Amino acid sequence: MQIRPWWDAGPVTGPERLPSLPDEEGGDPACWVRRVCPACGRLADENPPTRCPACGADLPDD
Ligand SMILES: [Zn+2]
Repeated sequence: MQIRPWWDAGPVTGPERLPSLPDEEGGDPACWVRRVCPACGRLADENPPTRCPACGADLPDD
């Protein structure tokens, strides 16, 4: 049995953090979905057309 350090002893708690969704309501409910990067799944900071802030992939405006 391997002795684990105290900082590695606890179980992983808490759900994985979800990307923060914009608070803006109304209008097109799926508007923020277009911001989701198809390459890495991160939510872009602005509506397309833009680039993913994480991986730089193009988010086309369609
Ligand atoms: Zn990305």
